Amino acid sequence: MRRAVWVALLVIGACSQKSGPAHAGPSETESREQERLHMVSRQIEARGVRDARVLQAMRKVPRHRFVPGSQRGHAYADRPLPIGHQQTISQPYIVALMSELAAVKPGDTVLEVGTGSGYQAAVLAEMGVKVLSIEIIEPLAKHAKATLSELGYAKMVEVRHGDGYSGWPEHAPFDAIIVTAAPPKIPEPLKQQLDVGGHLVIPVGKHYQSLLRVTRTKKGFREESVIPVRFVPMTGKAQER
Ligand code: SAM
Repeated sequence: MRRAVWVALLVIGACSQKSGPAHAGPSETESREQERLHMVSRQIEARGVRDARVLQAMRKVPRHRFVPGSQRGHAYADRPLPIGHQQTISQPYIVALMSELAAVKPGDTVLEVGTGSGYQAAVLAEMGVKVLSIEIIEPLAKHAKATLSELGYAKMVEVRHGDGYSGWPEHAPFDAIIVTAAPPKIPEPLKQQLDVGGHLVIPVGKHYQSLLRVTRTKKGFREESVIPVRFVPMTGKAQER
């Protein structure tokens, strides 16, 4: 009988130790959320991004889950980060700016060329958009697919391994197209897969690149140059021409 009481007390002791002191600091989830809120106010709103749905999505998507373990401590820093295979996850501000320039609304369908980590696709999905994303490096496509699925974005994002130069004609026309690798010239098939009123947001150039927004009008295309940028080059067919 006495032995049974001791066992019970030991179990209670072990449980209460696990729950920790009442004054413990913020959990990892809470501190990551704080970092994200700072990222949005200091890097993104401060530079003029105003679209409420973009800002909300950037506050919500756990960017640290899209970077390799060795980069987690820098996940909310104001810069791109390596994701392996000599590729990068874009700087948070650039992801927000491109999402704003795409001017999408819930229910739209967007083509992304250059899935990379899957982060840009998750931000768009969080905005209520269906995303079709193409990645030329197979292990990156597989890894992004797994991350998006773990985080519950699988229904909103379809990832395909391949060269995005020719777009995804079976699903065209798109309400918007976001390209996250720079070709020397705008790929013509991407312009042709844009719906009237839709925007193609794309970095273009070899050494010096400009972020362009191409809008399809009833009569043709209108092109705006937004800011100078530096993206990884688009590989595959874009380099053959
Ligand atoms: N959007 C990504 C993210 O959120 O992590 C960032 C992408 S990274 C800057 C550019 C990506 O474009 C790389 O993963 C690269 O392999 C991919 N890429 C380059 N050329 C491509 C092509 N022709 N078709 C599809 N993906 C391509």
